[in-house]
Amino acid sequence: MADLPSLWTHEPHHILTFRPGDKVADIDAGATPGFDGSKSDAPELQAERNERFAELQEMLYANGRAGDSRSVLLVLQGMDTAGKGGIVKHVVGAGNPQGIDYTSFGVPTAEEKAHGYLWRIRNALPAAGQVGVFDRSHYEDVLVVRVHNLVPPEVWAARYDEINAFEKELVDSGTTLVKVAMFVSLDEQKRRLAERLERPDKYWKYNPGDLDERKLWPAYQEAYQAVLDKTSTGYAPWHVVPCDRKWYSRLAITELLIEALKSLGMSWPPADFDVDAEKKRLTQA
Ligand code: ADP
Repeated sequence: MADLPSLWTHEPHHILTFRPGDKVADIDAGATPGFDGSKSDAPELQAERNERFAELQEMLYANGRAGDSRSVLLVLQGMDTAGKGGIVKHVVGAGNPQGIDYTSFGVPTAEEKAHGYLWRIRNALPAAGQVGVFDRSHYEDVLVVRVHNLVPPEVWAARYDEINAFEKELVDSGTTLVKVAMFVSLDEQKRRLAERLERPDKYWKYNPGDLDERKLWPAYQEAYQAVLDKTSTGYAPWHVVPCDRKWYSRLAITELLIEALKSLGMSWPPADFDVDAEKKRLTQA
């Protein structure tokens, strides 16, 4: 726990990892697992950890430039209003855009539909040195697609194994996956939707369809349970993040990213030139 701020009593990547037998119905979206502080501690801590994330992210980028083929991929899944956008803005946004590769996945386009569901995903994978961010992902193909019967059951049912095989391939090729399932309670979702309707600067986030999806929460719970049960693997585990308190979810996901980057055991790439000779040349330049 060397690098972890003392307000964390447990390492987020341990305490938030989905474990076999965990039930989506039991998730307390208002909880703050592993964190002993309060909202008032968050701004200062978030700023400090954003800097740490930015440093490690730049180190990954620098190593990528120096020939290291590794990358990190943050996969964000969550119900509407869970706060994916806030993670992108307030957590990932602290990084250097040169090394961030953001992709959001919406309803597949005609071109995307003409290919298998992993086609658009493969096209968006992060290159060496990049932190990729998937705002929704291939998991939509076993979530919204399952809930709305967009393909026959035997088709979506086969996808869990396909996704596991795909992610294994990804991890083996040097991509560290950080999969985050963001859970917001129905009460908090209602409050956030109401806020969007009250504020003209938030209308752009409001989608009338969100109210229809809200009614389908039991079916989504079932679909999320299946995702967590079937695709939380040793090489690509799911993290379950309670999101009713935005300050907590942002702190937690920042730590998940920091931990993933630290696990790469990086240092700054050495100079590929003679530093002393260059210093001498510069004095004469
Ligand atoms: P967000 O809600 O994340 O801000 P959008 O308003 O663009 O973004 O919504 C994206 C929509 O695309 C969501 O309703 C999501 O369920 C849907 N979607 C994403 N992937 C698929 C897919 N593979 N098949 C059907 N719908 C999908």
